[in-house]
Amino acid sequence: MTTSNSTLDQLSSSDEFIGRHIGPDATEQKAMLAELGVESLDQLVETTLPESIRLGRDLNMEDAVSEVDALAYLKKLEEKNTVNRSYIGMGYHGTHVPHVILRNVFENPGWYTAYTPYQPEISQGRLEGLLNFQQMVMDLSGMDLANASLLDEATAAAEAMALCKRSNKLKSNKFFVADDVHPQTLDVIKTRAEYFGWEVIVGNPATDLANHEVFGVQLQYPGTYGDVADLKSLVDAAKAQKAMVSVAADPLALILLKSPGELGADVVVGNTQRFGVPMGFGGPHAAYMASSEKLKRSVPGRIIGVSVDSNGNPALRLAMQTREQHIRRDKATSNICTAQALLANMAGFYAVYHGPQGLKRIAEKVLRLTSILAKGLELGGVKRSNATFFDCVTVEGIDQAAVNARALAKGCNLRLIADGRISINLDETSELSDVADLLEIVLGADHGVEVASLEAQVNGNSGFAAELRRDDNILSHPIFNTHHSESEMMRYLKKLENKDYSLVHGMIPLGSCTMKLNAAAEMMPVTWNGFSNMHPFAPRDQAEGYMEMIRELEAGLAEITGYDAVCMQPNSGAQGEYAGLLAIRKYQEANGEGHRTICLIPSSAHGTNPASAAMMGMKVVVVKCDESGNIDVADLYEKAEQHKENLSCLIITYPSTHGVYEESVVDICAKIHEYGGQVYLDGANMNAQVGLTTPGFIGSDVSHLNLHKTFAIPHGGGGPGMGPIGVKKHLAPFVAGHAVSKPEWATEGNGAVAAAPYGSASILLITWMYVKMLGKVGLKKSTEVAVLNANYLASKLAPHYEVLYRGRNGRVAHECIIDIRPLKEATGVSEEDIAKRLMDYGFHAPTMSFPVAGTLMIEPTESEPKAELDRFIEAMVKIRGEIDQVVAGEWPADNNPLCKAPHTMVDITGEWNRPYSREVAVFPTAATRDSKYWPTANRVDNTYGDRHFICSCPSIEEYMED
Ligand SMILES: *Cc1c(COP(=O)(O)O)cnc(C)c1O
Repeated sequence: MTTSNSTLDQLSSSDEFIGRHIGPDATEQKAMLAELGVESLDQLVETTLPESIRLGRDLNMEDAVSEVDALAYLKKLEEKNTVNRSYIGMGYHGTHVPHVILRNVFENPGWYTAYTPYQPEISQGRLEGLLNFQQMVMDLSGMDLANASLLDEATAAAEAMALCKRSNKLKSNKFFVADDVHPQTLDVIKTRAEYFGWEVIVGNPATDLANHEVFGVQLQYPGTYGDVADLKSLVDAAKAQKAMVSVAADPLALILLKSPGELGADVVVGNTQRFGVPMGFGGPHAAYMASSEKLKRSVPGRIIGVSVDSNGNPALRLAMQTREQHIRRDKATSNICTAQALLANMAGFYAVYHGPQGLKRIAEKVLRLTSILAKGLELGGVKRSNATFFDCVTVEGIDQAAVNARALAKGCNLRLIADGRISINLDETSELSDVADLLEIVLGADHGVEVASLEAQVNGNSGFAAELRRDDNILSHPIFNTHHSESEMMRYLKKLENKDYSLVHGMIPLGSCTMKLNAAAEMMPVTWNGFSNMHPFAPRDQAEGYMEMIRELEAGLAEITGYDAVCMQPNSGAQGEYAGLLAIRKYQEANGEGHRTICLIPSSAHGTNPASAAMMGMKVVVVKCDESGNIDVADLYEKAEQHKENLSCLIITYPSTHGVYEESVVDICAKIHEYGGQVYLDGANMNAQVGLTTPGFIGSDVSHLNLHKTFAIPHGGGGPGMGPIGVKKHLAPFVAGHAVSKPEWATEGNGAVAAAPYGSASILLITWMYVKMLGKVGLKKSTEVAVLNANYLASKLAPHYEVLYRGRNGRVAHECIIDIRPLKEATGVSEEDIAKRLMDYGFHAPTMSFPVAGTLMIEPTESEPKAELDRFIEAMVKIRGEIDQVVAGEWPADNNPLCKAPHTMVDITGEWNRPYSREVAVFPTAATRDSKYWPTANRVDNTYGDRHFICSCPSIEEYMED
């Protein structure tokens, strides 16, 4: 449209990203609007959104900034960060991310855009990666079973505490935490314990434990100041009083140290960050949890298990999901939903790449360097507090301020302890030259210790007693002993990637999950040095670039949500729910209303809602929904009235999980307030709100935002995520703080809900880029096109499938549910058959049986172009035709392309004796002939795997047999 007379403004590209993020172009939008009988996006919104919730103004935000300019802006912020050499430790360490993993996994959309592996047939690659992670954790911890994964070490320890309580018959409500547990871990444990009604006792386990009767004990191995304690005697002391023992253990130390499992621990948790995942100012990284076999049914989090597919071949899938919140609701073992899959995969691959010898070399080097440092300090006359060590020395009797000044002058960060001591933590990246620098820092320039001869004076590795050295065989599985050349590693990673369906193949129309574009420009800053190598507890003045970025994002999200403050700490949506409910509880307590513990939740709610409420010590009262999917307002008001004395809050999702804009939401919020309750609005469906309305405007008090849904952080195959909460002013004083490094928003003394003050801070960059590049126009337009795409799909599918719920004028919001139950009743073909058959057509299934059993919930998002929607519609219509062929008796009910789906390459080679052709099986459309995605497993048997539970890597013979 530009001519030679255009002004520079007209020729500039600052709006270009909007057109790249949004799938359908103007012409396509017109055609789709015509299908819906409206003229414009405005008219679509007018006829879809209830009047009462329409914001009626533009967001007060900046205009879009081009990709180039946004990256240049962030470069400037990056330069405001000072990345010092970090010796702070406390569970966060320098590491060399193997480049083959950095490039092929961390920076590769084939890995980071995949969804949680609920559809195992198209997820075998990352399931194998996660199984490797579990095997690695089991070997290092010496336990029978491990999950993949938890959010961070501190929440993992809090989960371990709850696991100890669940699995212990003692009446005690007391939990003992060793006084050398990392302070952020203690902080999170205290927050959790308070609302479970448990008392936390902090002390020296060797001397104080015997004085208390406790249900569980938390230890740190090695301790936060570096000691490698005699774990056995502590575990034995706990066992003597039948308390269960959880050990937070450093994975690199476990390469050399006797495992907590061998010494009798019940649960082992920790952070695998130093296995090749950058610190990122706090995350994301994968925490682990391992336990004994007898706890398997009460362990929290995702567990990958081995099962078989319909051809009897081994196949992996998520095991024992009946423990989880989407089934057990408020009785679930935890509220964990999104975890840290991408980072768990990276840590597992780090072990695959280095193997046991490589890891041992790294651990020995760290220990040797620490021994040399310890010797040098000793010769320099400085007293060390920790008698034993692996990678950390703590010194006392020094001039802390002077030492710190010398450290900063050399670009080094040490851990400054409040009592005047200093800790120094070495890691994989440390060299002898660093030790020389550290000696100079601690001892002063003319210290007189001969560094050159130091090594000769260190006899072996002097850190800990010989009997604490492990002598069992670890990581002996072939997977950790094969891919050590870069060629092999690269091919192994590609082999796994090729098994998995991700956004690089096509759309993933998962309702409630908002699988939109994760643009390359949004991802790039995450791995820039100035952001990725920042320690979460680095002095704040070194993180000015981070702080500016976070403040800007807070302001943007506050405007987008209509709230007054945003707290960036929670690492997932479910953690956000927890943090938001915590703020409500604390607010009510401060007003003398601590007795308010009733939480109303509609029956259609996401499983994390009741699970989080239960963790806050609330009593869940379920509110009915009417047959058109709306909250049954009469039932809600009746229950609110009935519980008005003790009503704490209502949790609702908006638009509801049924994907319609409910008319009554404003009245509902007002009514709850009348009864003295607060409204928590689950923000998972913000993609239907941004720019059109806000939770604050609707009348709620607090919401979490799933930045990994609406705000472009990729799903990573099951995490990472970020679940910041927005709150109204009155709740702001009650949001999470942090014991080590207080976030700017927090009131002094408020406890933490996550290990790091700003959660998984590095991925906030993705959302910052997203907001910056879309600007106020692009953000609103994204929502409008998301609604357009969903209504277009609903309209095109309606002649073939029953669309279950509609709002005003027959419209859906940003997703739609199609009801397979009538079809199933008439034909026997189930929603699962359709989901699996879609794989043959080159699609990931929509959300299955949530929020209503026997349905499929489809959310296309704004990022899918019309051509992709049409390809999906074609697949769904053809599948409908196949169902009719089953009904007509052309294919038997137990031998047709639906019930046999998905089909693998192996299926169509060799003998073929099915009533349908090979071509129908695997090339049902022109699109599949042009570009075929091949599932690598047949339908996976879930119950078999749960009955024969295995969560370790199968022996190579088992693979060979098949
Ligand atoms: C995804 C989702 C959640 C949970 O978010 P996680 O980040 O997975 O913990 C909560 N509520 C709704 C409605 C969701 O869709």
